[in-house]
Amino acid sequence: MRLDVVTIFPEYLEPLNVSLVGKARARGQLNVHVHDLREWTYDRHNTVDDTPYGGGPGMVMKTDPWGDALDSVLADGYDTGSHGPALVVPTPSGRPFTQELAVELSERPWLVFAPARYEGIDRRVVDEYATRMPVYEVSIGDYVLAGGEAAVLVVTEAVARLLPGVLGNAESHRDDSFAPGAMANLLEGPVYTKPPEWRGRDIPDVLLSGHHGRIARWRRDEALKRTAANRPDLIERCDSAAFDKKDREM
Ligand code: SAM
Repeated sequence: MRLDVVTIFPEYLEPLNVSLVGKARARGQLNVHVHDLREWTYDRHNTVDDTPYGGGPGMVMKTDPWGDALDSVLADGYDTGSHGPALVVPTPSGRPFTQELAVELSERPWLVFAPARYEGIDRRVVDEYATRMPVYEVSIGDYVLAGGEAAVLVVTEAVARLLPGVLGNAESHRDDSFAPGAMANLLEGPVYTKPPEWRGRDIPDVLLSGHHGRIARWRRDEALKRTAANRPDLIERCDSAAFDKKDREM
């Protein structure tokens, strides 16, 4: 998969060199390019923003630097054999970024990210590229960050760990919170490792029972409890028929 990020803070994307994403890059599973938007400014001050039409506080990112940058990045990508780009625009007014959307993005060959600063990018930029490719306007939560770079890191990590071969154990994300299947819409329950006793706290006996059916049911019940406590909105979307079927199989 190819990823391009256009930003006025390229250094903000340094974490893409470490951990899971860094290793995926080193193994050639991810091809990442970070570009400085100011390379596509032509005035002495490298201006990327201007006052908003209609008045109001804050500044708006200008059409020309973004248009020139995206044209150039897309042309370069095509030259190096990439196809099927999609534009990802982080914005608090976008659709919520979910595991389902992470799966959808992980199936695309090439993502181009346009993280903004100030009050966002002149709307005509999104409208223009939406005529050429899928555009995903995504929000990583109901709060407002100072810029979209942190959202790019979030989306990239969620997507990268779904790519074939990136996680050491391909099964690792099967039981994750929000993973598709019978446990969809359930948060993952608590997890434990050795030693079996720590500061007087034992791990639940069932985990030492070796009984796969009982362990699976315990995990499901803990997931339900945690979901009910932390995300009651998700419980309503649970597939209780899938639970009943699983119980009969145990
Ligand atoms: N005035 C904008 C609004 O209320 O929608 C907020 C602009 S914010 C200060 C600057 C940039 O940070 C946004 O254009 C976007 O790129 C990024 N950003 C802020 N919060 C975000 C969120 N929850 N999800 C994704 N991107 C976000």
